[in-house]
Amino acid sequence: MDNHTGEQKRLRGIAVSPGIIIGKAHLVYRSKVKILYQYLIRDEQLNKEVKRFEKALSVTENQILNLKNRMPDQVKEHSFILDSCLMILKDSMITDSTIQRILNDKINAEWALQKSVEDISQVFDQIDDDYIKSRINDVENVTERVLRNLSGKAQESLAGISERVIIVAHDLSPADMTELNIDKVMGFITNVGGKTSHTAIMAQALELPAVMGLESATDQVEDGDLLILDGNTGDVIINPDDIEINNYKKKQIQHEEYKSLIVKTSHLPATTLDGHRIVIKANVEFFEEVMSVRDYGGEGVGLFRTELLYLKSKGFPTEEELFEDYREVVETIAPDPVTIRTLDLGGDKFDSKLEISKETNPALGLRAIRLCLKETEMFKTQLRAILRASIYGEVQIMFPMISGLQEVLDAKKILGQAKEDLNREKIEYDHEIKVGIMIEIPSAVTMAEVLAKHVDFFNIGTNDLIQYALAIDRINEHVAYMYQPFHPAILKMIQQVVNAARNAGINVSLCGEMAGDPLCVPILLSIGINELSMNARTIPIIKKIIRSISIEETCDDFENVTELSTAEEVREYVFDRMKSKVPVSPPLAGGG
Ligand code: PEP
Ligand code: MG
Repeated sequence: MDNHTGEQKRLRGIAVSPGIIIGKAHLVYRSKVKILYQYLIRDEQLNKEVKRFEKALSVTENQILNLKNRMPDQVKEHSFILDSCLMILKDSMITDSTIQRILNDKINAEWALQKSVEDISQVFDQIDDDYIKSRINDVENVTERVLRNLSGKAQESLAGISERVIIVAHDLSPADMTELNIDKVMGFITNVGGKTSHTAIMAQALELPAVMGLESATDQVEDGDLLILDGNTGDVIINPDDIEINNYKKKQIQHEEYKSLIVKTSHLPATTLDGHRIVIKANVEFFEEVMSVRDYGGEGVGLFRTELLYLKSKGFPTEEELFEDYREVVETIAPDPVTIRTLDLGGDKFDSKLEISKETNPALGLRAIRLCLKETEMFKTQLRAILRASIYGEVQIMFPMISGLQEVLDAKKILGQAKEDLNREKIEYDHEIKVGIMIEIPSAVTMAEVLAKHVDFFNIGTNDLIQYALAIDRINEHVAYMYQPFHPAILKMIQQVVNAARNAGINVSLCGEMAGDPLCVPILLSIGINELSMNARTIPIIKKIIRSISIEETCDDFENVTELSTAEEVREYVFDRMKSKVPVSPPLAGGG
């Protein structure tokens, strides 16, 4: 590497697509079209203005269709993203409301469109779910295209980039991603965006290392600057010196070796050195995750979060919509099993239809099973849909947020009614379907012995268990430092649940973020957990770690770990033991 003459600077953003690359920066000016002019349209010109807007919509539609036809094979499975752009173009909140504004307010199309988007933004702003909230970027990207077509200003095309470069942009849209010449572009960094954006999803599909959310990358980087992009950590180094370059070249080699190793071995079972077989499943929420479960070596879905359809629908989703959704997931995963968790709305996932967003303390409010036991018709509709999907593969039903036996009995009663209705209507379902509960409230831990007699399995949700046991709001950044999976109290609780399940002879698994944390896994195995469910992407690493340890040794090593006094002591203890046993470099970053 030569000509790295500028000042060395380091930026930290959100690592959205893994890999380390060193290359020259190419700034693309995808600046927003500025609508600096609002003007009034004379009455006799109004229809012409509407036509001008409609023409811009149809030009935009053709451009998107063209992009869709030219999509590289690697991202074809994501063509639904461009379909959603086409849907946005046809959405009445954009089209009809802009036309109404032109006609009623007698203003130019650009200004009217801008106002429609502002209205939509306000609606999205009130949504708590990060994924859904971030979909406003899709709306903005599409309207940006329409505005460009109205103004006649062409956007710089990315298709023409013919050098090996790292793209630096304020923002890149999913449509931009389809234009990239991926043989040339090495990766990209952007000021805005995050992990759940479709741009990030596509970067991963294209295996393009990427860091987003850097805030000021386009101000700090100049065209032609040498960059190091670390898509594993979110670090970006501008004009690195020779020491940094050599350092990262080594990391790059390690990462490549590591990647090929884990990908090659992701389909091997997670069997410990001394022959214990651990079952590894995936947590899924979006359909694109379902498609990748098997590729990452997942042996089924251990947690299917079902809130998305409820958050997306205008009213409640119908039984038919739910059934189709579940059937698709079950059929994709079959013959492996799918555990469908019933609705866990409330808490940080609220839905304005249910008017539960106004609670002052939503995490302790009308959430999950409590809500379902209040809205019993809605609950029964979901249960019927799950039961009907159960004949397309192996399905298990799981109730979230159980605090004690009464809720289990009440939920099972409604499940019984749903089954009876289906029997009466002669609709098929799996009569042997297993029913389990999430253990994620401390009172359920205490009552685990009793609960175990009434269900077929336990699944420990450590995300909430930690929240409720340590009294820290899981979405409050001010107490994020206290979110401690290594807290001895948490480990003791998991131990208690495992013992109760074992005594009752029922299965127990764990599906919180802890399951995908390389430093937590050895402790969990030593406690007796033998089934884990996690984000699919972490499956290969976790399987690799499990294959490098022996249960017997791990149990010896961690025999007294729950007796340590603080989370920090536990973390250090585990780190010390694990650093020699897990030979590859990146995984030991975990444990947060
Ligand atoms: C949990 O609480 O650990 C869990 C897996 O469920 P969620 O994160 O959806 O609350
Ligand atoms: Mg939970």
